[in-house]
Amino acid sequence: MAALQRSAFFDAIQQHDPESTTVVHSLSGRSFKFGGLLQDVAKSKDNLLKATGKTEDQLAGERIAFVVENSYDYVVTLLACLASNTIAVPLAPSFPASELRYILNHSQALALLHSSTFAKVAQEVLKDGLDQQPISVALEKIKEQKGQSSSPVELKGESNAAEGGMMLYTSGTTARPKGVLLPQPVLIAQCRSLIQAWNYTSKDRLLHVLPLHHIHGTVNALLAPVLAGSTIEFMFPFNVDAVWKRLAAPFIASSNEHKPPITFFTVVPTIWSRMLQSWSDLPDDLKEAAGEAIQRKNLRLSISGSAALPTPTKKAWTDLSKGNVLLERFGMTEVGMALSCGLDDIDRIDGSVGWPLPSVEARLVDPDTQEIIKPGEETTSEGKERSGEIQLRGPTIFKGYWRNPEATKKEFTEDGWFKTGDIAVRKPVHGAGEGKSGEWATGPAYFIHGRKSADIIKTGGEKVSALEIERELLSLPQVKECAVVGLPSEAWGQKAAAIIVLTEQGKTAGRGGKEWSALDMRRALKDKMVAYKIPQDMKIVDELPRNAMGKINKKDLVQKVFGDLVAIRRRSIAAAEERAQAKAKEAAEQAKGGANGHA
Ligand code: AMP
Repeated sequence: MAALQRSAFFDAIQQHDPESTTVVHSLSGRSFKFGGLLQDVAKSKDNLLKATGKTEDQLAGERIAFVVENSYDYVVTLLACLASNTIAVPLAPSFPASELRYILNHSQALALLHSSTFAKVAQEVLKDGLDQQPISVALEKIKEQKGQSSSPVELKGESNAAEGGMMLYTSGTTARPKGVLLPQPVLIAQCRSLIQAWNYTSKDRLLHVLPLHHIHGTVNALLAPVLAGSTIEFMFPFNVDAVWKRLAAPFIASSNEHKPPITFFTVVPTIWSRMLQSWSDLPDDLKEAAGEAIQRKNLRLSISGSAALPTPTKKAWTDLSKGNVLLERFGMTEVGMALSCGLDDIDRIDGSVGWPLPSVEARLVDPDTQEIIKPGEETTSEGKERSGEIQLRGPTIFKGYWRNPEATKKEFTEDGWFKTGDIAVRKPVHGAGEGKSGEWATGPAYFIHGRKSADIIKTGGEKVSALEIERELLSLPQVKECAVVGLPSEAWGQKAAAIIVLTEQGKTAGRGGKEWSALDMRRALKDKMVAYKIPQDMKIVDELPRNAMGKINKKDLVQKVFGDLVAIRRRSIAAAEERAQAKAKEAAEQAKGGANGHA
């Protein structure tokens, strides 16, 4: 009988109903049951041992990179890495070969596994030679289990396998991507925390449209459902029409396809907004069925995260789905999910990411004074909100950056808290945080102001949140998308500026039917926010460049859109500083001369 080392994942899989579906490929209908999963993992692990020529002990802790499409084969490959105590390094097939080579070199991968679909990608990556040439392994496509029951797999040994895990690479907006090491116990803690908060069950069917080299797609939408016994239906890459059709399918009376309703959908804000934008183009029968599919009684849970959810998007979805409110959460590669709104509607607060998830400890620390903002001290004596960096601790936090002890040391405090670099405030919200969604969702809720490095604009001694201004801009009918950034300013240090994609209405909303202008924007915001927060400059663009998770790289964007202006301002600030210094020097010399004269 095949055997695997015990782990929370494998124990759980063995206990799930063997007849229940674990993974289904949405378009082809290729479908796999929990009953065969451990057997496939054991086979895949054996293949790995054979292909690398290593013993189990030698293999433990090695990095195994793989490029496999979003499918049952991906799930098995990832679990086989965990089963062999190796560190799985999932690669994004969409990345350029140079990026993939960097990851292989940096992680010192022992092997690169690839499915037949990505044989060319692997070939391209390996052709120029790497620092340590990985063993190239072609994976065979796993056959669909038709009827036959799989032989049982014995689980033995300790259930706390520690050496293996998963390593994800950060998007590297400031430096080269860093390898975030998530040991198996961290992955298990992250999944358990989510299962407790969001109540994944074996009745859930999750539609999976996210990339699988990111924490959202791998932990929230893959490992947690596997641990909970839910079904994952892969439908990648995201295609808005296909998603609408799939959601609607079970509710189209004439359809002879028997697709079960989707109960769980977790995506990024840009996907929610694309679904809303495409709604009006759907044919009437599809609209009717899809309208039914997205109601709470069918789609139990719809989640948004990985970037800020604009309130108008949240509201529009609530209206369209007849009250199925989106649940927002906050997380990052290094920590999995950290904060989340609750299952009870009262705990899905607009603009908030809720409370620290089960087992997560969170605190806010004033970035200037390093003072901890204790509960009850969230406002100053003058009644001003105190914002602070979110710092986190607990079993869900990553172990460190791979081969980068300096970065690891820099991002943790002496007493072991991880510094997220995200700024937030904490506020009590009437009716919310009273434990209706669970013990963990109590007290004042967190509201994200943005990344310390890109979203906090220091203007005339005040700190302004780019995310807060973006929220206000997005509530205007002229604004389709926007990014608020800080530009250097001689008078104010920094000043907010907006980069905007106009709606159709916005294109003729200016004076005399012209395009909406900076002046129109300032006028529109006048009654909504204090003057110093209102962006001074504005540029209209056709689209905002976003990565696969809907995130904007603001550093690149500022350079692209406002590069010349920034250079001019920097020069004038430098010139002003020079003038000021020269004046100070002159004054000092005069004073000295005067003093000498009197002596
Ligand atoms: P990543 O590690 O690529 O998932 O990026 C993590 C970053 O995404 C966080 O540090 C936040 O800046 C941002 N982020 C994630 N979720 C949210 C959210 N709900 N609201 C605002 N920002 C978010």
